Amino acid sequence: MNDRTQPPDISVVIPVFNERANLQPLAARLVPALEGAGIAFEAIFVDDGSQDESLSELRALCSAEPRFRALSFSRNFGKEVAIAAGLDEARGRAVVIMDSDLQHPPEVIPQFIARWREGYKNVYGQRVDRAADPKLRAILTRLFYRIIDRFGDVSLPPGAGDFRLLDRQAVDALLSMRERARFNKGLFAWIGFKSIGVPFEVENRASGASKFNLPRLMSFALDGIMSFSSIPLKVWTYVGLAISCFGLGMAAYYWVRTMLFGVDTPGFPTLVVSIAFFSGVQLISLGVLGEYIARIFNEVKGRPLYLVAERIEGGKRDDAAA
Ligand code: UDP
Ligand code: MG
Repeated sequence: MNDRTQPPDISVVIPVFNERANLQPLAARLVPALEGAGIAFEAIFVDDGSQDESLSELRALCSAEPRFRALSFSRNFGKEVAIAAGLDEARGRAVVIMDSDLQHPPEVIPQFIARWREGYKNVYGQRVDRAADPKLRAILTRLFYRIIDRFGDVSLPPGAGDFRLLDRQAVDALLSMRERARFNKGLFAWIGFKSIGVPFEVENRASGASKFNLPRLMSFALDGIMSFSSIPLKVWTYVGLAISCFGLGMAAYYWVRTMLFGVDTPGFPTLVVSIAFFSGVQLISLGVLGEYIARIFNEVKGRPLYLVAERIEGGKRDDAAA
């Protein structure tokens, strides 16, 4: 561990997964942006099991900069967990979370800090547009946020992402939540505290491609919905009730019809359709139960959130810079 006694004002937490070409440019913008505003900071890079040269790049960066540190996971644990690890490590009186692909401009951080000094504890960057995203992704994202907003336990401010500043109090609140299926945007909203948005323009990824393809985004969305809503569990009660009422109505109808007109057709199509339909409904509701049970199982196992393979301390000790 680092034994510098004076905690920095700001810890910047940066998850890194295969971002070799972005790290150097990021550092080159981050340091002047913060230094220019006279902010005492530390930066904590969390290498989320990168398979490219990100780790050696981080070693080089850290050895040249005493305010940089890095953790390296034993494998890829996902961005949400990487952020949790960064929060664990952060010692600052406030923590800034940002991506390592330069989509989150470091120059906005001084604005976050200004808001924080005004007393806000949860200062989130608010995208002015999602132009940087592909069309389909933008549509699905919007749909997902609408679902969460309508049915979830938390309401997510529009355009808010992981790029944000959290006061120490908010960070400690997050640290007390050790759930495995982490959906940070939900957790950030769940903890509350005095919050405010700071608009910023998302830049295009500096280099490389997004790690979130459609299946990964889907599973992320499912984590979000399942962690912050029990509607998928409860909705089946109502669906079941509606279907049963419909069944009763149908029974009454056929009873009256048989009494009045006698039996005509043998009813083969009705039978097949209703069997298929009701089996479908049953399988879906079983699947929903399964999703929640799998999540309970995951939490109950109580495994550590992540495993650290290597810690990289900042270069030469220089207390004046801390
Ligand atoms: N990331 C990570 N672990 C992963 C995937 C991504 O730490 O498994 C990091 C990645 O290096 C970047 C940030 O999370 O700093 C956002 O990832 P990306 O740019 O791929 O997502 P997008 O911007 O498309 O949402
Ligand atoms: Mg990105």
